[in-house]
Amino acid sequence: MAVFRVAIVGAGPAGIFVADLLRNSERSFEVSIDLFDQLPAPYGLVRYGVAPDHPRIKGIVNSLRQVIDDDEIRLLGNVCYGRDITLTDLKRHYHAVIFTTGATKDARLTIQGADLPGSFGAGSFVSWYDGHPDVPRDWSLNHKAVAVIGNGNVALDVTRMLARRVNELATTEMPKSILDQFERSQVTDIHVIGRRGPLQVKFTPLELRELGELPDVDILLDENDFVSDEASELAKATNKQTQIIDRVFTAWRSREPIGANRRIHFHFHSKPIEIFGANQVEGVRLERTEPDGEGGARGTGRTLDLPVDAVYSAIGYFGTELPDIPFDRLRGVIPNRAGRAIDDSDQRVHGVYASGWIKRGPVGLIGATKSDAIETVQSLLSDQADWWTPSDPSPDSVTSLLKDRGVKFTTLEGWHRLDEYEIGLGAREGRQRVKVIPREQMVEISNNV
Ligand SMILES: Cc1cc2nc3c(=O)[nH]c(=O)nc-3n(C[C@H](O)[C@H](O)[C@H](O)COP(=O)(O)OP(=O)(O)OC[C@H]3O[C@@H](n4cnc5c(N)ncnc54)[C@H](O)[C@@H]3O)c2cc1C
Repeated sequence: MAVFRVAIVGAGPAGIFVADLLRNSERSFEVSIDLFDQLPAPYGLVRYGVAPDHPRIKGIVNSLRQVIDDDEIRLLGNVCYGRDITLTDLKRHYHAVIFTTGATKDARLTIQGADLPGSFGAGSFVSWYDGHPDVPRDWSLNHKAVAVIGNGNVALDVTRMLARRVNELATTEMPKSILDQFERSQVTDIHVIGRRGPLQVKFTPLELRELGELPDVDILLDENDFVSDEASELAKATNKQTQIIDRVFTAWRSREPIGANRRIHFHFHSKPIEIFGANQVEGVRLERTEPDGEGGARGTGRTLDLPVDAVYSAIGYFGTELPDIPFDRLRGVIPNRAGRAIDDSDQRVHGVYASGWIKRGPVGLIGATKSDAIETVQSLLSDQADWWTPSDPSPDSVTSLLKDRGVKFTTLEGWHRLDEYEIGLGAREGRQRVKVIPREQMVEISNNV
């Protein structure tokens, strides 16, 4: 039986779901899958994005693990497409490639002062507290008042992490070095800023409600923000999520502050127009907005200066351009039709596919990545006549190439070793896991046969 060799670049949920669907698909040929990741460990943002105080979601790892443990899938970690392996290499060794490289950069805030010291992208903060090997290890939490710009779940994660006490985080998989920095945190006030109204937020109800359950935290709302308009009433009448969110805010509005040590202030109808400060963030200028009647917001020209010492912008993520692969610089995705990459002239790029956040942009939970994978796999399997014709499709040729280039790649067995090592570190402290951060150490433990 003919063997179809496919490379998947990116071992996050999208790459793993694609691999799962491929190995379980009905077909008249065998598949052999190589799943590459630039990191020595798999799972993408499930390991390096999902907040450490959300271990239930990390449980998804168990189902992802069952997929990568399959014989038909070979994991090759610590291999970066574009540096360690190129499109020419892939064409020589595979029939097709699916890029599932996600969107890991912060979308840029483009207002004046966004580059001042003290202004951060939420994604950098998330990568830091989640122990990503490629970000600086120090994060100063010596700011008292912090603004978090954005009304999506990442803004909620960042707010919650800033509001938590270190003892609430001590049971998570955070290494001691990160916990120590949370212990020294000076944060007392977190200002969550959104352009539109409370019923136009992109929070999911569960995550919003969770904020109200944090110990020793008051939630402060401004009654002036709860102006009703036709679009909000319609959203409330027709959308279950909006109804729950409305109930959460209504309950909070009637809650008396308890004089807590940390406070979360929500500022709706507030558009950040400038971050100001002489040499470092001293505040953020907000323009008051009003409902535009269609679910959006328009500026009123009235401004307010909110004094803060730091700004975290959680306004979205953005994909990274990959060498020799078409890229939509506006949306940060690989332009595609049903997962088939298309070039600037709207022509198919044969043999190249995309799935997950690099296919459709950084929106949606892990589950959405699965439905997305179904479409891409269907496209791939129905394009058999267009696949590449590799001159050397043997699996060994790829590992030989990596060895020749001095790439210290990791494997599934290596990941199991690292996984067990981290679980062992956790067990000593009664925790489920403690993460290893430095890349060299991750590789060393993985490859230490
Ligand atoms: C802060 C944050 C918190 C989130 N929390 C939740 C949550 O609680 N629940 C939920 O359901 N969803 C959550 N999500 C959404 C979820 O993480 C995404 O839906 C999902 O991870 C997208 O999957 P992906 O595989 O497309 O991308 P990713 O998970 O980003 O995976 C992409 C992979 O590609 C690899 N890669 C990138 N470039 C290269 C290259 N050049 N060569 C080789 N490998 C490469 C990366 O290392 C990474 O492992 C969260 C997202 C963020 C940002």
